[in-house]
Amino acid sequence: MNIGKFLTQSARSIPQNPAIVHGSSMWTYAEFNERVNQFANALVGLGVAKGDHVALLMYNGPQMLEAMFACFKVGCGAVPINFRLHPNEFTFIIDQSESKVVVATAQFNLALKQHRNQMSQVHHIITTSGADEELLDYETVLSGAASEFEDAELAPDDVAWLFYTSGTTGRPKGAMLTHRNLTGMTMNCLADMCPGCGPNDVTLHAAPLSHGSGLYSIPNVARAATHVIPDGTSFDPANVLRLIEQHRVTNIFVAPTMLKRLIDCPDLDHCDSSSLKSVIYGGAPMLVEDLTTAVAKLGPCLVQLYGQGESPMTITYLPHRDHVVNGDHDRRRRLASVGIPRTDVEVAVVDDNGRQLPSGSCGEIVTRSDMVMKGYWQNPGATAAALKDGWLHTGDIGRFDECGYLFLMDRSKDMIISGGENIYPREIEEVLIRHPAVREVAVIGVPDPEWGESVKAVVSTTSGTSVTDQELIDFCRKHVSSYKKPRSVDFVDEIPKNNYGKIMKRVLREKYLHGK
Ligand code: AMP
Repeated sequence: MNIGKFLTQSARSIPQNPAIVHGSSMWTYAEFNERVNQFANALVGLGVAKGDHVALLMYNGPQMLEAMFACFKVGCGAVPINFRLHPNEFTFIIDQSESKVVVATAQFNLALKQHRNQMSQVHHIITTSGADEELLDYETVLSGAASEFEDAELAPDDVAWLFYTSGTTGRPKGAMLTHRNLTGMTMNCLADMCPGCGPNDVTLHAAPLSHGSGLYSIPNVARAATHVIPDGTSFDPANVLRLIEQHRVTNIFVAPTMLKRLIDCPDLDHCDSSSLKSVIYGGAPMLVEDLTTAVAKLGPCLVQLYGQGESPMTITYLPHRDHVVNGDHDRRRRLASVGIPRTDVEVAVVDDNGRQLPSGSCGEIVTRSDMVMKGYWQNPGATAAALKDGWLHTGDIGRFDECGYLFLMDRSKDMIISGGENIYPREIEEVLIRHPAVREVAVIGVPDPEWGESVKAVVSTTSGTSVTDQELIDFCRKHVSSYKKPRSVDFVDEIPKNNYGKIMKRVLREKYLHGK
């Protein structure tokens, strides 16, 4: 088992199909595979062997996909890193993962050199440009290597991807995703998210390849679909819409905040997006009000996933067929859920003692499947806390309804306990987003001498509107119990998000650590 073989097979069976489109350049599957083979040979030449780790600190681009698949073929674990991280954070990951080689976009040359002595295992740094005596040049390394490569023979439990958790709640941990995990994820994606995906399909990598978009490149490679990789490092909704129309994109993975920006983009009204078959969104909550607008504008091509790095892209899904708004109350209610367990995935809700709870009861969400990680790299304590009797404990709180739809309340760390009452921020966020002046909202608990914690709403407003904190508090009172209403509202221009579009509640909480 080696997921690198997905590429080898696609290149063998349909060599002339376009594999990667980037700007005005295009590479066929034969060319993509040849470059990956060359890079795989180059890595081996630099001393990388099966079981080693190679860090990828790269902007989205063809070289990121090449380096990733080269790692798979060699049988070393790829360590894709969020390129927005601070140098202290990415050096921590490079060092903790014991990476032997770092492949980096040129923009990181200086920082990598400055922090070199903190990355004890690194033998070589390969840069996309600006090489010197300390840094090797990507194209030179690649072009000097042979274009044939024998994909490594691997065991299913060999690590393919060391997925560092996005760190919205603490120091990142490296979830060991094996070739079995990513094969399972691939099959599940092809079953549930992009059924029928094939060589005529086109995917667009609007989100970072170091996270969801990179994971979903694997099923698309396995089906010889075309990968369109936009230029630039930030999400540009108008450009994404233009590329969807130009390349007749059929599937795309986006974070909810990206989906919201796409549907708010005025260009959507005159863009031909009819080629879209699967707009896969997930990785963070999508509020019902926003989702209803998305369904009205994009229709039944939407499909939601609920997953986490430890069970990549694969716990539950809200299928295409549930993305309907027709006035039916039950259907609208379902839009607030994260859907049903993925094919071949077990999901349960358990109490503090690990006992399964009946539908309707709230507890921790646990999952068991071939997709669940092997454990955290060099972190047996965290592994033992997360994996119990073969079940992954997600740290998310939820409940099933009587039809088997899972409603995710919040991460347990985000739950607010005020005056002994549990308050789920999402419930209040769902209310506030319905106020016409609210563009984005995050609800958090802040220390309170009387209640332990109190509810604070952090709000960014829609341009051209104005609203006071008291008006928003009164608006909440009309829709939720009084004890859940925010005690304070702060207005900000932008709510802090990480590179993957997730709201950084930890950063917000730190800001209000001393109350108010
Ligand atoms: P990460 O490991 O960075 O992908 O983060 C995973 C976490 O994001 C999950 O444990 C959930 O708390 C959250 N998440 C993922 N998908 C969804 C979703 N569809 N709705 C709400 N939260 C989600």
